[in-house]
Amino acid sequence: MLFKGNRKRPFAIVLILELINAVKIFITGGAGFIGSNLVRLLIKETNHSVTNFDKLTYAGNPESLIDVEESPRYEFIKGDLLDLAVTTEALKKSGAEAIIHLAAESHVDRSIDHPAPFIQTNVLGTYNLLQASMEVLSQRDSSRTDHFRFLHVSTDEVFGSLHSAEQPFTETSRYAPNSPYSASKASSDHLVRAWQSTFGLPALVTHCSNNYGPFQFPEKLIPVVILKCLQGEAIPVYGNGQNIRDWLFVEDHCRALLAVMEKGTLGETYNIGANHECSNLDLVQTVCRIMDQLHSKPGIESYESLIHFVPDRPGHDFSYAMDSKKIRAELDWKPQEKFNIGLAKTVKWYLDHPTWWRSILAQQR
Ligand code: NAD
Repeated sequence: MLFKGNRKRPFAIVLILELINAVKIFITGGAGFIGSNLVRLLIKETNHSVTNFDKLTYAGNPESLIDVEESPRYEFIKGDLLDLAVTTEALKKSGAEAIIHLAAESHVDRSIDHPAPFIQTNVLGTYNLLQASMEVLSQRDSSRTDHFRFLHVSTDEVFGSLHSAEQPFTETSRYAPNSPYSASKASSDHLVRAWQSTFGLPALVTHCSNNYGPFQFPEKLIPVVILKCLQGEAIPVYGNGQNIRDWLFVEDHCRALLAVMEKGTLGETYNIGANHECSNLDLVQTVCRIMDQLHSKPGIESYESLIHFVPDRPGHDFSYAMDSKKIRAELDWKPQEKFNIGLAKTVKWYLDHPTWWRSILAQQR
């Protein structure tokens, strides 16, 4: 909700205040994993309206938004950030008062096999969106630009890898990306910073840890484990499985993005994390145990028996951990979901939505 202390105000006044504060948001990549969860949250729990600009790459799926597509506060535009004219036109037409930029190539393994699309979308695509924003803002009078915000959604991976004795990453940690994915995201962060400093673009940046939850593309670790269990196939785990990640439920990330968009200080960056670090092996074993409870299979005593170690990937960061004190203290955000509950909800969601992931797997073949 937009206002604190609503309970003390008459309902009609609360409604009017919220409508006055409703914002037109231009979201890029809203058909992806985090984007579709964010669009759903905005349509179902706020009065903001959303223009979703998405190329619909292999990772974008309109099926993920079926329950909000009829809303009068939602519109979808199929478009590619690499086309500056199309991006500028869409942004202009949307009348956006805020941008939340999520569109990216996001899978590290793919960035190792084929880096080019990562440089194109994450670097050049972000450059185009920045230029489009400047162009659109230059045509508005100050009453419509004063409250404009460009929120760039980045990742903890730009900070590289922590050794076991090191403190979690803060907002001022040194950039040290190790994969083509994280290097392309780091480049886009620097572009946003430069457009803020040089051209005065009112920007904010967030760095979030690994997300999990419904609607995640089936090539990412948690859906891979669930679907391998269902198919009774070997569950691949890189190296010895001791790499450590912090895991945040996707809705908590979306609520953090909303808080930063509504209340964040322009020019600032905010780390977003759950303080729930665990090794990949621990995570995979936990998912297997949830699967044992929710979907046991005759002939398989525990899905853990399917775990299979595979050679590590090059440049695999050992550990990430985020210090998210700043967003907790300044914007009153904290994760709502407990890890085991969020993980069980996620497993159950994949079990209950086979049509969603089966149609994606069929397109992959
Ligand atoms: P995703 O791969 O699921 O979705 C990306 C979306 O961007 C897709 O809908 C795709 O169609 C769209 N897209 C790609 N190229 C485009 C282009 N050229 N023009 C327009 N649209 C395009 O990604 P995600 O996991 O939802 O991540 C969203 C953002 O959050 C990314 O910027 C990512 O770096 C960041 N992030 C993700 C995580 C995570 O754990 N998934 C964690 C921290 C930060």
